[in-house]
Amino acid sequence: MSGKLLIVLLAVLAGVWLWRRGRRLARQAASVRPPPRVQTMLRCHVCGTHVPESEAAHGAHGAYCSAAHRAQAGDTGHA
Ligand SMILES: [Zn+2]
Repeated sequence: MSGKLLIVLLAVLAGVWLWRRGRRLARQAASVRPPPRVQTMLRCHVCGTHVPESEAAHGAHGAYCSAAHRAQAGDTGHA
């Protein structure tokens, strides 16, 4: 066994070790859970109820808890 072959073998082993370590670090980074999305709460202009932005009825003058309250406020909305 020549010295050159031994060096090549060590280089390959080092490369594999670095590759495996990199994969492990990448997996750890991927497993970190993202922070929960902050839900913006909007206040209904008619009754004052706080509703999540995604569930609120959006009108031209603000947000409402429901389409009924948006209509009650005389707000026709964006469309
Ligand atoms: Zn309301």
